[in-house]
Amino acid sequence: MEKLPQIDGDIGWLETSPDCAARLGPRLKGSHEFDYAVIGAGFTGISVALRLAEIDPSARIALVDALRVGEGASGRNAGFLIDLPHNMDFAKTGVEHARSLFRLNMFAIERLRAFKEQYAIPSWTDAGKYMAAHEESNLPGLNNFAGMLKQAGFEYETVSGPDLARRLGTNYYRSAVYTRGNVLVNPAALVRGLIKALPPSVSLFENSPVQGIEYGPPHKLHFVGGTITARKVVQATNSYSEQFGKLACRIVPIFTYASLTRPLNEEQLRRHFDGVRPWGVTSAHLAGTTVRFTHDNRIFIRNTYDYLPDLKSTGADLEAAWRSHRSSFEARFPFLKEMDFDYTWGGLFAITKNHEPVFSNPDEGVYVLSGCNGVGVVKGTYLGYYMADHICGVESENLRFVLKSSHPTWIPPDPVRLVAARARIAWEAAHAKGDV
Ligand SMILES: Cc1cc2nc3c(=O)[nH]c(=O)nc-3n(C[C@H](O)[C@H](O)[C@H](O)COP(=O)(O)OP(=O)(O)OC[C@H]3O[C@@H](n4cnc5c(N)ncnc54)[C@H](O)[C@@H]3O)c2cc1C
Repeated sequence: MEKLPQIDGDIGWLETSPDCAARLGPRLKGSHEFDYAVIGAGFTGISVALRLAEIDPSARIALVDALRVGEGASGRNAGFLIDLPHNMDFAKTGVEHARSLFRLNMFAIERLRAFKEQYAIPSWTDAGKYMAAHEESNLPGLNNFAGMLKQAGFEYETVSGPDLARRLGTNYYRSAVYTRGNVLVNPAALVRGLIKALPPSVSLFENSPVQGIEYGPPHKLHFVGGTITARKVVQATNSYSEQFGKLACRIVPIFTYASLTRPLNEEQLRRHFDGVRPWGVTSAHLAGTTVRFTHDNRIFIRNTYDYLPDLKSTGADLEAAWRSHRSSFEARFPFLKEMDFDYTWGGLFAITKNHEPVFSNPDEGVYVLSGCNGVGVVKGTYLGYYMADHICGVESENLRFVLKSSHPTWIPPDPVRLVAARARIAWEAAHAKGDV
């Protein structure tokens, strides 16, 4: 493997989650045999392992990650568990497709909710979600979203002016579409909490990058000082999936960045956020800024996209993102100008051209999951679940829908992919204007 995951910056969610320093699994050393090896302990890989163990309790399952659980993108994201389909385009997919995606999203949210309740995982907030616009030029995007919600029969509320300002504690936005079903979490706390649900038949190995793979079956994974042999291998490695040689010309790995403040003090809360409940805002523009007022009274900011072919950011990339976050933060909260960010970090998500995920079985005993298109907390959870069902021959209407709707279209390889991705990112950023 040429490109292995690294830690990009200071991962605020991880550092503010309980027991953040605890090691949840040992390094992989020595030779081991398992029935299944799942590579990647993010939401997708954990979901595969949990469901495999439910269906086949006697199976021995290895779950391995290059980093600690919570250090990958699953612990670095904005923490939105999004119920409604994110990229609705009825002209292309039809209303029924959106309704099916909604059912799958709700299935995943309820499954995560059950684990949260059973294992007392903190920070879960049923806050809903605002999609908001600051620029008049971005209002059509918002209206288009509302129109599609209406057509599909999804509930929503339009909130504008002083009412919106009262709910958010800032008067930055002109208008927003509020939907109720979205959940906000500290994603690092959630993904680490899910590890408690793994039964003894699942062995978790952290800090154990797969260095190479010899395909069989049985398949042999190579680590520094160790191997795993397994008849079935599931690759749930998100943007790193191409490294394993079974996925090409389907995904674009995109870097984006986030910052988190310390908790607001009593005075700031009283003066500016009196009666304001935790909220999350996504932008009406694709390149706009995601913002949260968290359950523990912090402000979270996410923006800036880049295509980094090495799949790692530099100090200069983080610094540039920090500057962009400062400007978005100060525009929305001029009264908090003096407040520093405690954490700034970056992370990867994999997009596909037609927004359909990778859910494939390219060779005997080899399964690949990727392309969660920026909504992988929920999508990875249901894709992982149904991949386990698919492997074990458990049929359902949901699985049939997943199989039918997981055909990502072709994307040219680098350098064309690099040039096209960067051009599109620059174009979108220029048009988002004040919504960045
Ligand atoms: C800043 C940011 C904000 C986002 N906001 C949201 C949001 O609000 N809601 C949402 O749903 N999604 C969001 N996303 C996307 C979301 O984080 C991803 O879709 C999700 O993490 C995908 O989960 P996963 O398990 O498939 O992949 P990952 O979480 O990336 O897990 C893959 C794992 O594979 C491991 N791995 C890779 N290569 C190897 C190897 N060679 N050996 C061993 N292990 C390896 C990695 O270390 C990693 O832990 C955001 C992403 C970012 C970066």
